[in-house]
Amino acid sequence: AVSGNPFAGKQMYVNSFYASEVNNLAIPSLASSLIPAASQVAKTPSFYWMDVHAKVPTMGTMLDDIAAKNKAGASPPNIGIFVVYDLPDRDCAAYSSNGEYSIANNGVANYKSYIDDIAAQLKNHSSTDVVLVIEPDSLGNLITNLNVAKCSNAQSAYLECYNYALTHLNLPNVAMYIDAGHAGWLGWSANIGPAAQLFGSIYKNAGSPAAVRGLATNVANYNAFSIATCPSYTQGDANCDEQKYVNALAPLLTAAGFPAHFIMDTSRNGVQPTSQLAWGDWCNVKGTGFGARPTTNTGDPLEDAFVWVKPGAESDGTSDSTAARYDSHCGLADALQPAPQAGSWFQAYFVQLLTNANPAF
Ligand code: BGC
Repeated sequence: AVSGNPFAGKQMYVNSFYASEVNNLAIPSLASSLIPAASQVAKTPSFYWMDVHAKVPTMGTMLDDIAAKNKAGASPPNIGIFVVYDLPDRDCAAYSSNGEYSIANNGVANYKSYIDDIAAQLKNHSSTDVVLVIEPDSLGNLITNLNVAKCSNAQSAYLECYNYALTHLNLPNVAMYIDAGHAGWLGWSANIGPAAQLFGSIYKNAGSPAAVRGLATNVANYNAFSIATCPSYTQGDANCDEQKYVNALAPLLTAAGFPAHFIMDTSRNGVQPTSQLAWGDWCNVKGTGFGARPTTNTGDPLEDAFVWVKPGAESDGTSDSTAARYDSHCGLADALQPAPQAGSWFQAYFVQLLTNANPAF
């Protein structure tokens, strides 16, 4: 495992995939007044999502690039930042991000092969340190959405796949953060205890892997790290921001034997409160802006870093009700429309995030 805070003394890698989305898809049709800020976004590090098996070799190419940059004297050295995101029956309580593997069709074996390929790349690049965020939204669904048939059917497969990922990615050059939803999901008093128990049991069942550093929160969400007045849509949840959430979660994790360290996605949390009508509204929410730039300077010892996990302006889901993977959240009044399929470039959303960036670029 990478010891301690894996981001300390490192620079997060700026991957060419997001940079090219900004430079080649966004900038050519942008008002000239926005181009300087957009160019800054292109240079901001964001995680690369391996949302299909076919993207694993691209991680290898990026790790080659990091090794070359570090060998050429990058100071501080780069650390790779990637998302592992291909569970069978993925996104079991929603539709937008349903993935390529299904449990009924060899999904667990396919997932293990996906993890094997990631592990092989990481072993081939053993001198390059890498941070992995593991499976956004998945364990949260096992806490609150077991009433959804697809989630209850997926429970044992998710746990088997999680165990496989944590044990096989437990490598000397790796630090993993397991996704922990956000304050408005697992932060509720009814959910936070069961969540801590689940994280603890998954960790122990995997043999307490040294490469598991902690939890990632707010991935693809919009919450503030710290807010003076709880927005009305937080409906009385005592943990109305991410700092309150992780500080409430930490002692429960410690009691469950799980390492209480955190990172938080700040890619889209620049505006507070957002234009969300309800805290559970997650799809392409209106009124948001790019948030804090990635940094280890978080002001809270529990929080290793603020990071950009969601590549800002990749869509959360299509708003076309006739399309495959349409989820009604993406047709709500607080969702920017028309929106393309999840992961596809959403130019109007980019303009929104850029215009509302806080801090401004
Ligand atoms: C999508 C993925 C995409 C990720 C990051 C998810 O909602 O399903 O395809 O890679 O967002 O934009």
